[in-house]
Amino acid sequence: MSGLLQSSEKTVTVIGGGVAGMSAACAMAQAGLRVQLVERRGYLGGRASSYLHPGVDEVIDNCQHVLFGCCTNLIGFYQRIGVADRIHWTSEMTMIEPGGRRSPLGPSWLPAPLHGLPKLMAAKAFTLADKLALGRAFAAMMRPVPRNSQETLGDWLRRHGQTEGAIERFWRLVIASALNADLDSIALPYAAKVIRELFMNSAQAGSMGMSTAPLSELYSGAAKFLERSGSSVLFNSNVESAEWDEETSQWTLSTRNGALMSDFLVLALPFEATAKLLPHMPAADGVDALAAQLERHQHWPICSIHLWFDREITTLDHAVLLDREIHWLYNKSRLQPWRRLKGSYVELVVSASRHFAQLSREEAIALAMRELAEFFPAMAEAKLQKAALVKEMRATFAVPPGIDASRPTSVSPWPNCFLAGDWTATGWPSTMESAARSGHLAAEAVCMSIGNPRTILDPDLKPRGLMRFV
Ligand SMILES: Cc1cc2nc3c(=O)[nH]c(=O)nc-3n(C[C@H](O)[C@H](O)[C@H](O)COP(=O)(O)OP(=O)(O)OC[C@H]3O[C@@H](n4cnc5c(N)ncnc54)[C@H](O)[C@@H]3O)c2cc1C
Repeated sequence: MSGLLQSSEKTVTVIGGGVAGMSAACAMAQAGLRVQLVERRGYLGGRASSYLHPGVDEVIDNCQHVLFGCCTNLIGFYQRIGVADRIHWTSEMTMIEPGGRRSPLGPSWLPAPLHGLPKLMAAKAFTLADKLALGRAFAAMMRPVPRNSQETLGDWLRRHGQTEGAIERFWRLVIASALNADLDSIALPYAAKVIRELFMNSAQAGSMGMSTAPLSELYSGAAKFLERSGSSVLFNSNVESAEWDEETSQWTLSTRNGALMSDFLVLALPFEATAKLLPHMPAADGVDALAAQLERHQHWPICSIHLWFDREITTLDHAVLLDREIHWLYNKSRLQPWRRLKGSYVELVVSASRHFAQLSREEAIALAMRELAEFFPAMAEAKLQKAALVKEMRATFAVPPGIDASRPTSVSPWPNCFLAGDWTATGWPSTMESAARSGHLAAEAVCMSIGNPRTILDPDLKPRGLMRFV
């Protein structure tokens, strides 16, 4: 996109300061619209945010968020607001077994999709039978999966003779965890998308990014960008209802802090909040159908355990922990050296954590400490200084077979109003990339409506190596 255009007379209100709302608002501000971004809370980021945790007196993320090289719209949004250099990228992933044996995974000089093969073949975490099973599954994933396939990933794995080791240590831990659900609750096309993007298309697509700044600080770049562009952000403003005036072609929104008016509206809310607002929107054809789509969505939890030790327990930046309830380790004191801690801070993430989320704080932290000691010998000497548990019960939406019928496009039942949010029709699972895509699609729709059509959606990365011919 070119630089700032002259401000048009048209005004847009974006409801929701998550990644979807921020990316829509910033793209429209850059296109010359006057935007007000309205957020219920006192900070930006939505489900990807950070805050001062009173129990530990530290700024923590609600959970570690990772992105990948294939997240072109999220990266495009970061570039737009000037924070892309705050992402730390890595192509290495270390699997650790209880007992401490390590299997580093990552790309080699071989062309895609073979680039990950040498390290996978050398990985001690997998038996020869596991490796052959994974090789067969990857080869089968080269064939296109029909978007309307009703098969679950679990059924597909059984049909493709996957071994227990391949299922537990790769499919459940890496793929189902990225999609945050059980194997039998994931539609095959979504699993195929993750496999292709992270492991097959190119080494660049599969490289992993982590913010070196707390998430809300990262996203404060969006507020600064909007202010520089003549737009604004309204915090602590819960939108309670919206009315459309046919005569003036204006929207009026009610918040506790007063009414807001604009020519256009973008609802960039999670599916639960969209459903809550629906009865307070004008009657229109299509509202019942949208309500029915919203009802079919379900969410899955993610838990994170934040631990501060008097010393470093590992020099790894991050690791995949096998065969236990805790799944991912992020060494925050290494990823965020500005914290200047005397000891160390690690964050553990438990995905698809319906069982773990039932544990009390004491039980969860004790379990995490017990399991961590099985992976890192330094735990024997390390003293825990403080700990926090964050349970996000509505972390992500589920992607079971048939879910695409319940993911609407940006077109809404109302005039001059568009939908965004990670759950809308982007083809991506519940991720910041899906949210950024939905924001860019809604921004394109608004620009089209005012007769200023433009391409805002960032293109996908092109497959490399042999994948160019698939
Ligand atoms: C624990 C956890 C871990 C995750 N890990 C990852 C990860 O590693 N990688 C990844 O890509 N994704 C991850 N995700 C998913 C990712 O966070 C979401 O997909 C994405 O942030 C959704 O963005 P959104 O803008 O669509 O919705 P949200 O982030 O939910 O934003 C909606 C915003 O609307 C506001 N709002 C709601 N109602 C109103 C109202 N009436 N008026 C005004 N404002 C309102 C909310 O406060 C919120 O700020 C994770 C999510 C969680 C919770």
